[in-house]
Amino acid sequence: MTAPASLHGVQLCCPRDGAALQDGLRCDVCGTVYPVVGGVPVLINDANSVFAVSDYLQGAGYVGPSYGRDGDGAGGLRRIWRRWARRLGDAPSSLQHPSAADALACVARHVAAPRVLVIGSGGVRLGAEGVLHTDVAFGPAVDAIADAHDLPFPPGSFDLVVAVAVLEHVAEPTRCVAEIARVLKPGGHVYAVTPFLQPVHMGAHDFTRFTPIGHRRLFRAFDEVAAGIAMGAGSVAAWSLGGVLMSVSARPAWRRMARAAGLLCTPPLRLLDRWLPAAADHAGGCWFFGRLREGAPVSDRALVAQYRVAPGVVVLR
Ligand SMILES: [Zn+2]
Repeated sequence: MTAPASLHGVQLCCPRDGAALQDGLRCDVCGTVYPVVGGVPVLINDANSVFAVSDYLQGAGYVGPSYGRDGDGAGGLRRIWRRWARRLGDAPSSLQHPSAADALACVARHVAAPRVLVIGSGGVRLGAEGVLHTDVAFGPAVDAIADAHDLPFPPGSFDLVVAVAVLEHVAEPTRCVAEIARVLKPGGHVYAVTPFLQPVHMGAHDFTRFTPIGHRRLFRAFDEVAAGIAMGAGSVAAWSLGGVLMSVSARPAWRRMARAAGLLCTPPLRLLDRWLPAAADHAGGCWFFGRLREGAPVSDRALVAQYRVAPGVVVLR
C-alpha cells in the first residue's frame, strides 16, 4: 500500500526543504523518498540530523538502553535489578506542577478539537484524538520518526506542541524551538519541561541544561502563561549524592553498589521537594507553558526584569 502523505489529518512535509510530500512519502523538490518501517514513517533529514535514516531500516533504530527502555534484552536477576532500579530512580518528586495533560486541557477550553504535536513522546500517549506523537526512537506511542531540528509539518499546523524532557537531547535547542513556533498556529501554545541541575542521561545524546531564566529566554517568542520548576532541591540532592558515591571509583563492582545506595536515597530525598519552595536556583528542571507572541520576541531587558527566585504555586486557567 502506498504510504499516505498525511498523518491524523496533518500534511507531511520534506524535512530537508519543507515541500509537501506526495503519497508514497516522495518529495518532488529534492527527490527523496522517505521510508516507512513497521508502519511508521521515518521523516529524518539525513543531511543534517545526528540520526541516520539507514539505522531505522531494520526496525531497531535507536531502540536500546539509552532510548527504548525495554529494548536491552536483559533477563533473570539483571532484569529484576533493572526494573527495581528504574522504579527507585523514577520515584516521583513531591513537587506538583501542571502536566502536559493539564496544558492540553487548558488549550481545549479555548480551542475546539485542538491539534497537538508531541515531540519525544517515547512510550507515553497524550490523549487519543488529534494528537500526533513523534520521537527519534520507535515506541508503542510513536506515529512518526522525526527530528525536532527539521519538523516534517507545514507552518501553522498545531494548536499545542509538547516537548517534555526533549530539549536537553537536541544539538541546537534554539533551532528546535524556532521549529516549534513555525508549526504552531497563530496564538498556539507550547508546553515544555527541561532539566536544570540534573546529571547526564542517555549518554552521548545529552547536550544542554537551562537555568530558569535561560529556559524562559529559549521561549522568548512566546508570552508566558505559566512557568515554574519541575523538580526541587531534594531531587538534586539525590542525584548529587549518587554522583558523589559513583565518583569514588571507576571499578564496576563499586559503581554497582554506589548506584544502588544512591537509588535507595532517592525516594526520601524527593519527598523534601515540596517543602523547599524557594528552590528555583537549585531546581532539577524547569517547565514552561506559553502562547506564541504576535510581535517581536520578548527582549532580554524585559526577561531580566521578570526574574524571580520563587515562582510559587501555579494554576493554569
Ligand atoms: Zn525534499
